[in-house]
Amino acid sequence: MPKRCCVPGCKGNYEAELRSTPYRSVFRFPKNEELKSKWLASIPRKNWSPSKDSVVCDAHFQQAEIVRTETYVLQDGSANTES
Ligand SMILES: [Zn+2]
Repeated sequence: MPKRCCVPGCKGNYEAELRSTPYRSVFRFPKNEELKSKWLASIPRKNWSPSKDSVVCDAHFQQAEIVRTETYVLQDGSANTES
């Protein structure tokens, strides 16, 4: 089951569970602290910090801001990430 968006008031993936809308893509918070603080600044939630399972849905991003990455796992177990 897809994760629900953590932005207050956002219905991303709530309605989808009722099969009325398609699922949205969701994004985990970045590991980069600077980027993460930018995300937090645009989410109006007080006294809150994201857990490792918190996600934001694609409704809150411009398409141009989304960098999709694909990870290829090689046969020796190492991973190659390309953007
Ligand atoms: Zn959302």
